[in-house]
Amino acid sequence: MKILVAGYQHETNTFAPSKADWAAFNRGDDFPAFIHGRAMLDKLTGVNLPMGGFIDAAKIRGWQLVPSSWCGASPSSYVTQDAFERMSASVMADVNKGGFDAVYLDLHGAGVAEHLDDTEGELITRIRQVVGKDIPIVASLDLHANVTQRMLQQADALVSYRTYPHIDMAGTGELAAQLLARRIKVGRKEPLRYRRLPFLIPLNAQSTWMQPAAALYDALPELDKHFGTCLSFCMAFPASDFDECGPMVWAHGEHALEAVDRLFALVAEPTQWKLEFLSAHDAVAQSLARASQAHKPLVIADTQDNPGAGGDSNTTGLLHALLQQDAGKKFPDQIALGLMFDPQAARAAAAAGVGATISITLGTAVPTFTGQHSDPPVTGEFRVRALSDGQVTIKGPMMTGMAVTLGPCACLELDGVQVAVVSGQMQMLDRELFRMVGIHPEALKIIVVKSSNHFRADFTPLVADAQTDIIVAKAAGPMAADPADLPWKNLPASMRRKP
Ligand SMILES: [Zn+2]
Repeated sequence: MKILVAGYQHETNTFAPSKADWAAFNRGDDFPAFIHGRAMLDKLTGVNLPMGGFIDAAKIRGWQLVPSSWCGASPSSYVTQDAFERMSASVMADVNKGGFDAVYLDLHGAGVAEHLDDTEGELITRIRQVVGKDIPIVASLDLHANVTQRMLQQADALVSYRTYPHIDMAGTGELAAQLLARRIKVGRKEPLRYRRLPFLIPLNAQSTWMQPAAALYDALPELDKHFGTCLSFCMAFPASDFDECGPMVWAHGEHALEAVDRLFALVAEPTQWKLEFLSAHDAVAQSLARASQAHKPLVIADTQDNPGAGGDSNTTGLLHALLQQDAGKKFPDQIALGLMFDPQAARAAAAAGVGATISITLGTAVPTFTGQHSDPPVTGEFRVRALSDGQVTIKGPMMTGMAVTLGPCACLELDGVQVAVVSGQMQMLDRELFRMVGIHPEALKIIVVKSSNHFRADFTPLVADAQTDIIVAKAAGPMAADPADLPWKNLPASMRRKP
């Protein structure tokens, strides 16, 4: 068996400020940069990404891999037409060469381009048109995929992650290999059943480290065992303004219908997904009140500026709230925020050197979905506490082993509040991202993370009680914590904006 393998990852927040151009896919940021051919296999072997898992599974099965290309860009607004067409051309050139028996695609599933609503459905269709119906096409998807009917119909099988934070990326690549083996054995596409939920689920309600998602995802392997299916449940990415944005349940197998109906009944109960948020001010006030008694850190998630969901990781609402409430004066050097994307500040820090004080403005006021800009930059005399070249290897449970390059980085301190400033965009999902600039999360009282849920994998072990000591704050930013806050234009009326 020869399997052509390729990857394309983008989560498109159509309400976000910046687009994903070809340069973004060549940078990669929190993904590996665009890579083609044999080097792709070398780079991704052993990495906790779906392709890494599929490579391992293929080795075990004695399959030979025909590497095409792999690329991903940080979540943002639309993929440019140019970027999508370059990615597609790279994959299609290898598809057109032929010489393989099946195709595996490592996809996100929530990519929207300037000229295409459903980029993954389009890519699968283009491949299908070349290979015909006898060559199986199997793809893995992110749990945030907005799964379309076209994707389900054009592929032989799709399977998504079952964890958020996504610590099972490689495991999902292995599941995709299992699905491909099933498809080969059966000799035709297995029966497919799918049902879309009628409401959007806020990102912060989706963590599988909390209820209800934890228990719901536990049901999948049990139902699969019972029905002999491969079930998936994508909670969707609720900020892609097109007509098929929304959660989807689907399964492959003889008893797909029963399995999907059973899972659908569990997940479609709306009240379990409802969620409350605190303002930036209240989140800081509550954390400060608790911090004096707490022996372990408290974590505040700055969810609306999550660069894993289309934010640029540069807003200042929580930094202002910390400074206004004298957080750093109450707990000097025990308050930290990261990651703040501000290449200019990082450069100024590097030029001044460790120990210097620099007079700068930090952060950016960005346009948000409300029509207003986010809070103004913070102006002040920042002390340069540490510098770094931004080369770091992820050690926590998510993307374990991946080497990232964030460019010049610094720890800047103002009034006892430390800020991890970076020149590349990455979600704060690993403690190493603080440690690279000398901040040790274990020693902190309050940690502000620009992340919605991915931080939970590496930061939950730090807190005493995940239910009370992790607070989700709604500071002004480009990613709506509550999908009902977004000015939707293309979402059908039948899709409710909240559970
Ligand atoms: Zn995701």
